Amino acid sequence: MIKVLVVDDSNTMRRIIKKTLNQAGIEEIVEAEDGIDALKKLSENSDIDLIMLDVNMPRADGLTTLKELKSMPETAVIPVIMCTSESDKSVVIECIRSGAKDYIVKPFNKEVIAEKIQNLLKT
Ligand SMILES: [Mg+2]
Repeated sequence: MIKVLVVDDSNTMRRIIKKTLNQAGIEEIVEAEDGIDALKKLSENSDIDLIMLDVNMPRADGLTTLKELKSMPETAVIPVIMCTSESDKSVVIECIRSGAKDYIVKPFNKEVIAEKIQNLLKT
């Protein structure tokens, strides 16, 4: 059973992602509304297996948050999938260079996320 932290500033998008993860068989989900909240949720939940991180967020955006996560030993090991709603390829490439394992374009279906998670857990 894996536990996923979903970081997205949109309440609606978090609800959609949560529902899609549920459909993919993932029941344990923690939500955070931005990068700062994500760090707080990670400090409260030491058993997060995967982080799904929105690219566009106020306060701390996806790339800034990712770099922060990768700079701390306790969070650096947790795989991160970037979630993007637009075709902002340059930011996504920068995120992959900065340590993100994969990216996904929102909205996505359960087959796509299930396959990505399976691939991540294999490696
Ligand atoms: Mg956003």
